Amino acid sequence: MDIPSLTITEIKTGLLGRQFSAAELAAEALRFAEKENGVTNAYLRFCPERALANAHQVDSRIARGEDPGLLAGVPVAVKDVILTKGVTTTCGSRLLARYEPPYDATAIARLEQAGGVILGKTNCDEFAMGSSNENSAFGPVRNPVAPGRVPGGSSGGSAAAVAQGTAVVALGSDTGGSVRQPASFCGVVGVTPTYGRVSRYGLTAFASSLDHIGPFARTVHDAALLLQVIAGRDPNDSTSANAPVPDYTAALDGNVKGLKLGLPREYLKDLTSETGDVIARGVEILKRLGCEVREISLPSTEYAIASYYIIATAEASSNLARYDGVRYTCRSNRSDTLAEMYRNSRGEGFGAECKRRIMLGTYVLSAGYYDAYYLKAQKVRALIARDFAQAFAGVDAVIAPVSPFPAFRLGEKVNDPLQMYLSDIYTITGSLAGIPCMSVPCGETVEGLPVGMQVLTRHFDEATMFRIAGALEQSRGAM
Ligand code: GLN
Repeated sequence: MDIPSLTITEIKTGLLGRQFSAAELAAEALRFAEKENGVTNAYLRFCPERALANAHQVDSRIARGEDPGLLAGVPVAVKDVILTKGVTTTCGSRLLARYEPPYDATAIARLEQAGGVILGKTNCDEFAMGSSNENSAFGPVRNPVAPGRVPGGSSGGSAAAVAQGTAVVALGSDTGGSVRQPASFCGVVGVTPTYGRVSRYGLTAFASSLDHIGPFARTVHDAALLLQVIAGRDPNDSTSANAPVPDYTAALDGNVKGLKLGLPREYLKDLTSETGDVIARGVEILKRLGCEVREISLPSTEYAIASYYIIATAEASSNLARYDGVRYTCRSNRSDTLAEMYRNSRGEGFGAECKRRIMLGTYVLSAGYYDAYYLKAQKVRALIARDFAQAFAGVDAVIAPVSPFPAFRLGEKVNDPLQMYLSDIYTITGSLAGIPCMSVPCGETVEGLPVGMQVLTRHFDEATMFRIAGALEQSRGAM
């Protein structure tokens, strides 16, 4: 079996045709991933015992003639902000270097129930704060398709694992672009579902009103299938939606004739020409497939970054307060008093970016500044959501670049937080509006760097988003 190119369907066929067992596939996938990990540092740890236990369960279901599940035997990588019972979950932070969660995230439980095989946990920016994976306490991830460049962030390890073929699919988390941007940089598919579509139970909170779990895959079909498995109401997350989960793969018939797509002019402004050229080619393909593409305006876009970095840091400053050296985290042993112990544990444990955000967030929430910053940012958020609602009155979907530029060099932006934040100018808007959005590979720059096209649709209309992305994927090679 050719591990790096396997799809979910091929695995199912192989298992049911008795070409290989799930246990054989898991062992081979683990061997391959461990060998290749030196190249990317995508995985922080493997969990072979769990993977083999998952695989044995699939094999016995098949032996008993039972349905082995939608993800039967599929090797999955999981971002290290998603809790896995008994398997160390660090969130890319020194603080949680030895944290073993006492329970599984709902997405993990559903994935295993569907026959998924969890290979290990992937590297990420500390507490998912970053756009390059360089904020991990455990070293950066290297982009497997562009040596010397970042994989994007914060779910850089998950994107790199899927691109490298050391996982068939992966889970990431997206708060302002952390699934879509690394997917674009690594040339894979990355999906941010509607807010509430997937339970956040067991996803370590960064900014709760913006956090999503989302799938990575090499094909739109596999991403759609993974979302199918993890989506749906969960009583453990009161923000999870009760809406029925449709069959997403049924939408992948390639037929996009007559769909109206809006291309926001605000998203073409700061675009580099190398990325712009690839996006223009993608737009041409969609037009040839019968889509009607028109320019639209989302006028509040220019305030998105400012609004996001107020709301996200405010929520983060509150969410990260729990890491005080008492319950979960590594504790400083240099302290005589309780207050000193808190201070030292947090001071020694958090990296620079987390500290910056805790300070920013605490400031914008403080008495006297709340109205000027936090409340204003919430109003801007409402305007951004309204921009999209108005656009969707005239178009079925919005298409846009994912990032203004392709994967940048390791170290290139690490000392300039503002430049780093600008990586997300096209992804943050969809996050603030809570609508489904994804990155689908659109082409490569002349230098051979992958560029993703972003597709955004109405709340809970993931099906149309997958339909458009799937059509682009199928036709890209053909045209
Ligand atoms: N890069 C953005 C940030 O640093 C988004 C992160 C994310 O989506 N988790 O906040």
